[in-house]
Parts: sequence; structure tokens; C-alpha cells
Amino acid sequence: MEKITSLAKRRGFVFQSSEIYGGQSGAWDYGPLGIELKNRIAGAWWKEMTRLHDNIVGLDAAILMHPRTWEASGHVENFTDPLVDCKKCKSRFRADMIPEENLAAKKCPDCGGELTDTRKFNLMFKSHIGAAEDTASIIYLRPETAQGIYVNYKNIIQSNRMKIPFGIAQIGKAFRNEIVTKNFIFRTCEFEQMEMQYFVKPGTDEEWFNEWRKQRWAYYEKLGVKMDHLRWHQHGPDELAHYAKDAWDIQYLFPMGWRELEGVHNRTDYDLGRHSEFSGKDMQYIDQDNNNERYTPYIIETSAGLTRNVLMILCDAYDEELVTPDKNSGGVAEAASGTASSADDWRTVLRFHPDLAPVTVAVLPLMKKDGLAELAQDIRKSLQDDYATDYDQSGAIGRRYRRQDEAGTPFCVTVDYDSKEDKTVTLRFRDSMEQVRVPIVELADRIRQEIKAYKRIK
Ligand code: ATP
Repeated sequence: MEKITSLAKRRGFVFQSSEIYGGQSGAWDYGPLGIELKNRIAGAWWKEMTRLHDNIVGLDAAILMHPRTWEASGHVENFTDPLVDCKKCKSRFRADMIPEENLAAKKCPDCGGELTDTRKFNLMFKSHIGAAEDTASIIYLRPETAQGIYVNYKNIIQSNRMKIPFGIAQIGKAFRNEIVTKNFIFRTCEFEQMEMQYFVKPGTDEEWFNEWRKQRWAYYEKLGVKMDHLRWHQHGPDELAHYAKDAWDIQYLFPMGWRELEGVHNRTDYDLGRHSEFSGKDMQYIDQDNNNERYTPYIIETSAGLTRNVLMILCDAYDEELVTPDKNSGGVAEAASGTASSADDWRTVLRFHPDLAPVTVAVLPLMKKDGLAELAQDIRKSLQDDYATDYDQSGAIGRRYRRQDEAGTPFCVTVDYDSKEDKTVTLRFRDSMEQVRVPIVELADRIRQEIKAYKRIK
């Protein structure tokens, strides 16, 4: 994780929030490469969950919601973590995250000091809206995006003539006053979620639940994620929310171990039932195709962390390998079989799927002079409309390739003296390090074909 954190900072993926003031824990800033990566992950999810379905529509609900929302959802009462403090070293822990023997003996796992009793700690950030600081104007930062979907469910049925089953997808910020924020961007107080709530007829919920589990698993496979780093975890009786009928998490093998990446939940009719009760509005669905049958839909939720997905994709893509001088074989030897070598023989490479890579194509003139830089700039311009591009003319070409490898750029285009004569360039592939000669006029199409045909090789 240290290597990933340091690469992320060095290359401008992620910076600590307010670093010049010593940093703000639980919050991170996404730099130029980071925002591109995050946007692409969000884009891939959005395409998967909306464009590829004719019965799922999007929504962007406000972060600030009527405070009754959070009473109805149960967050005011139940959205708590068990908290203990060490009286000696002042460390704060989630009681369910420290060894049971420490909790039983009230002994701090860090310094051995005495722990306080466990108390409930509500994770919602609370503020005030309006001029007067009284209870009438309490407002919460939403701790999940889902409720914005539930309260709009009738609006969407009416405005878009949706028929059950249908889904509503949303990507947006959520805030939780997490007790422990460590492991970089894994668990933060400000984060983003990608949620899709699927409204189904009671009785069909189990079928849809299984279908969404299948689809969410296939999605990660499509992105080229290492499938042996993913597994399912079913919530046991002690984990299952009281309203949920079934819940399965997709866990990823992060550097600190298996952790939740996304949850697929059968939330029953709890949410709409509660909003109906608290708002006094009828949230039932009227099935006009079926004698106006009325029922409160069940909800199948797929809930993934966007920022947690950024960390997963960074971890999954990260690789170091020993590069041999033998360029004919692609120039790569297995790191494990590496003999003594200088630091220069190693490369760090982020093996992003080309659809997710922050930069798709980097254009590199072999030399700045003799018109090569101008030609390279022209080529870059011709690609800009279709691809995220970069241009780099400084330093030895080998070093420039390494820089692009480290940023996860899948394709480099090198412009040399021959390019001026025969109008071809070298297309270099990040993963295999192979190089082929391609006519400039065919470059954009060739890259498109390569992206379509992309298969992860390592
Ligand atoms: P955890 O058990 O890790 O606290 P959770 O079960 O409360 O998570 P959900 O409420 O189901 O999580 O949220 C759905 C998804 O949102 C999670 O799978 C995770 O990817 C993401 N998520 C939740 N809390 C955070 C956080 N504090 N920081 C970053 N991502 C988060």
C-alpha cells in the first residue's frame, strides 16, 4: 500500500487534503491523473448500469435532504458504530475491529492502557441550515446516495413512464464520520458511491437478486480485474441489516487483506414502506397492465464505492517487472527469476484496462528538432478528439516510456526521422513493450481496434 500511496502522490493521482496545513484526515484530493481515472471508472459503471439497459435511468439527487428522510431511513436511530477510546494513549477504535480479547479485558491493542466502555457513535455529519442554530434547522450530509433515489421513485415513474421492473442509477458524494480512516482512500469521511436501486415485484426479488449478483461479477471481469482477487461474502445473521432479506458483498484482496468493494442487497419493501409511513405519501406501485394491482416494490440494491473502486483499480493494475535488454522478446523477464540488476532495469507499470487509463495515447517525438516535435504535435491534435492524449518531449525515450508505464498509458506513439519520410510512426504497447510500425493515417483506427481486442496479459 505504501508503494501505491507514494506513486499516487508522485504522479498526481491522489493528494492528501489540505496538505499544506498538515492534512485533513478522512479526505483526499484527486489530481490530474486521479480525476481522469475516477471519471473513467464512473463512466464505465454508468455505461454498464444505464446505457446497456433499457429500463434503468439516471438521477442526480441533492446531498442535502429533508431531515425526516434520515428518520425514515433509520439512520438517525441506527447508523452508529460501536466506539471505544483508550484512556492512556487516547487512540479511538471501532469496537468491532479490535481483537475480542482486548475488548473483553478493556485493554488497548496499541499501548495496553485501559479502554472506555463501548458507546454508540452516529456516523452522520450534522449541521444547521439557515441563520438560527436550533433543532428546527438541523441538516445532515447524506451518508449514502440511496435515499435520494427512494424519495424520487414516484417522480421517475411518472415522468419517465417506468414499469416494474426498473432501476435508478446514481453516482454521488456521501459523507460518514468514520472513526478509523486508514488505508489511504479505502475508508474516508468524504467519498463517492455508485448505486443502482432496482424496483421489483415482491416474489420476483430472489430471482432479480441472483441476476444482479451475476451481472455485477461479470462487470469486474469485463474490466480485466484479476478474478482471483475477487470473492463473494454473504452476510451472516449478525451482519445482515434487520430489513434485509439477503446481502452479499463482493470483496477484493487489497494489500491489507480481503475487504468489501461493493454490496448487493435485497432490501425488501422496507425503504418505500418507511418513506410512505413518514411522509404520508402513497409509495405503492399501480400495475396498469395487471388490473391495477397495487403493491410496494421490493428493492434490489447494488452499491459500490467509486473512490474505493479507484483504490481497487490502482492496486489491481500495479506491477513491477524486470526489463531485460533483449527487446526482441518484448524486453521483459519474470521479476521472480531476476538476477542482480540495477534499479534502471525495473519498471513500475499500471496495467489499467485501456478504457480506464487516464491517458490513452502519449505522443513522443524522438528529438525536439528537425520538425519532429511539430509533426508529433500535429499527430497529437489529430488524436485528441477521440482519445485522452499526452505529449512528452523531454529526456531519453526509454525514460519517457517508463513515465508513461507508471501512469498506465496503454499506447505510446513515437515520431522519428523515418516518420517524416514514410509517414509512419512506432506504436508501442505498454504491457508487452512490443513495437509496431503504423501509418499515421491509420493510427486512430488501429488504437480503436487494439482497445476493443484488449486482453490483460499479466
Ligand atoms: P463498511 O462495512 O466498509 O463500513 P458498509 O457496509 O457500511 O461499509 P455500505 O453502506 O454498504 O458500506 O456502502 C456501499 C459501498 O460504499 C461500500 O461497499 C464501499 O465500497 C463504499 N463505502 C462505504 N463507506 C465508505 C467509506 N467510508 N469510504 C469509502 N467508501 C465507502
